[in-house]
Amino acid sequence: MARSLSPRVEAVFWFLLTAMGYFLLASVSLHATKGADNIAAVWPPSGYFLAILLLMPVKGRPAAFGGMIAASLLANVLGGTPFWTCVAFTVSNGCEAAVALWLIRRREPRELSFMVPRSVASFCIAAFVASLVSAMLAWGLTGKGFDFFLSWLTTVLLGMLIVTPPIVMLARLVGSHALSNAPTAMKAEATVILTIAGLVTVMSFSQSQFPATFLPCIAVIAASYRLGPFGAAAGMLIVTIIASLLTGQGYGPIAAIEGAQKTRVLFLQFYLLMLLFTTLPLAALLIVRQRLSKRLAQSNRWLLQAEAAALVGHWRVDLVDWTINWSDQTYRVHGLEPGSPVDVEYSVRQYVAEDRVVVRKILAEAVRTGEAFQFQGRVRRADGEIRYVKSHGSIEMGRGGKAVGIFGTAQDVTETVENARILEAARSAAERVANTDMLTGLPNRRHTLFFLEKALAGARDNGAPLAVAIFDIDHFKQINDTHGHATGDDVIRRVAQRAKAALREEDMLGRIGGEEFVCILQRASAQAAEIVAERVRKAVEVGTAAEDGRPSATISVGLAVYDGELDVEELLHRADKALYVAKREGRNRLRMAA
Ligand code: GH3
Ligand code: MG
Ligand code: MG
Repeated sequence: MARSLSPRVEAVFWFLLTAMGYFLLASVSLHATKGADNIAAVWPPSGYFLAILLLMPVKGRPAAFGGMIAASLLANVLGGTPFWTCVAFTVSNGCEAAVALWLIRRREPRELSFMVPRSVASFCIAAFVASLVSAMLAWGLTGKGFDFFLSWLTTVLLGMLIVTPPIVMLARLVGSHALSNAPTAMKAEATVILTIAGLVTVMSFSQSQFPATFLPCIAVIAASYRLGPFGAAAGMLIVTIIASLLTGQGYGPIAAIEGAQKTRVLFLQFYLLMLLFTTLPLAALLIVRQRLSKRLAQSNRWLLQAEAAALVGHWRVDLVDWTINWSDQTYRVHGLEPGSPVDVEYSVRQYVAEDRVVVRKILAEAVRTGEAFQFQGRVRRADGEIRYVKSHGSIEMGRGGKAVGIFGTAQDVTETVENARILEAARSAAERVANTDMLTGLPNRRHTLFFLEKALAGARDNGAPLAVAIFDIDHFKQINDTHGHATGDDVIRRVAQRAKAALREEDMLGRIGGEEFVCILQRASAQAAEIVAERVRKAVEVGTAAEDGRPSATISVGLAVYDGELDVEELLHRADKALYVAKREGRNRLRMAA
């Protein structure tokens, strides 16, 4: 509002606002609450002026101070105070406001919030220091007694502590439209609670037959509980106004206290201070709790969102009361509606029988050792579908090093497992193709030599016997020439089949060239190797006898028994030489290497 006005009009606005409010409150306080010795219980103008200073723009401050000085002088003079005393009071109150403002701005450079316990503490400290300064000034300037000093201190302190917070909060609520935007039910509740607080205070302070000064306390605590700091401040203000006015007019239990007027005022101040120090921390704690629970609810929401996005759920087994909790995503992993009742046994039973045993074992072991764990198992979902679920977890230790809980995650990794399986199948198929001879289905040269290398290393390390037989089809060129290449291929296939059938389980047969093969005979003595190799030769001779126009085939075999050769080539070379001898000596026969 003030922003759109010219600087001069703005200055006049702040001057009048301060002067009128200050004068009104000062006059009412002086007339209604002061006793015979001119002592007011509460000095609301101090609180009002500080609130205005906190809310207004910096450049309006001189005008506001001007308004305060004018109003203070006028109200005090009209209240019957001698002029120079009025000046002393005005100077004290003015300095007190300046000190309070300076201290608050120093500790809270940004906006002072009554919703933050730290800021409330800063405000209380500033109000106390400012009241102390003010009381010392007034005391020093007027030269009155120590009683006056104490009375001024408490009066001004109460004025600030009680009046400033509700005005600042209300102004901010109005300014931010929070008040007009607040739900009707909340506004109705606030109205009812504050009205009850007012009525209860009137009831307690308008009669002295039943000294029910505790009733307003309950009302203010209820206001703090339901409405937070604003409820506490507004409740306090209502109780202060009503209790001060009624007591000042001689009504109620405090006015009935026997003794000097200042004793009653002191009691009223003590009562109000106690009420303030009961409700303010309570309201501050409530707001902290509210904020914490809001933050907690929010991080919980974020956690669930993160779980849903990452498809990872969590679970926790309470080992003390043997219960289990699942997060929403864990329910989804199991194909269940979030929130359905689950227990520990049910959770384990979700795994297919053989995985269940493993899961139980891993969990029992983790509880025993206290170490982190991980497992993957197949879960049968509610719709019967089997899914792979991976869990990582850790053990929660209680006091005394005893396991009190198991915390874990649950991630549906079915897609990953399936992809890995497809990949593995493709890889092993590719490996098979890379290692297999397409014509015969036997291991090809590369694979055969690789296998032989391993067998040789084994024989060298263990001293187990090893023999290698190389065989070659006799006069194969002729077969090709006479019957054609396709028939030649067919002969190669048949020879491979016969030879393979004649070998032992532990022997390996590979095709290492066009019509050349290698038999690797492991753990076979020279004698046994010879028998096996001869059996192969015979099997080919018999098994490929000419029939239905198919040509017959024989093989010549060169056999070499491992004799400490350093590498495969050497051993093969010896076998090859023996093969050459077999060829030379007429073919279709076996020769041992020298
Ligand atoms: P030997 O008794 O001395 O072994 O006489 P051979 O005629 O069998 O002579 P050699 O072993 O040198 O013959 C190899 C022939 O095998 C040459 C080539 O044409 C043929 N050959 C090589 N690979 C294949 C194949 O995959 N299919 C067919 N049909 N023939 C092949
Ligand atoms: Mg050959
Ligand atoms: Mg040949």
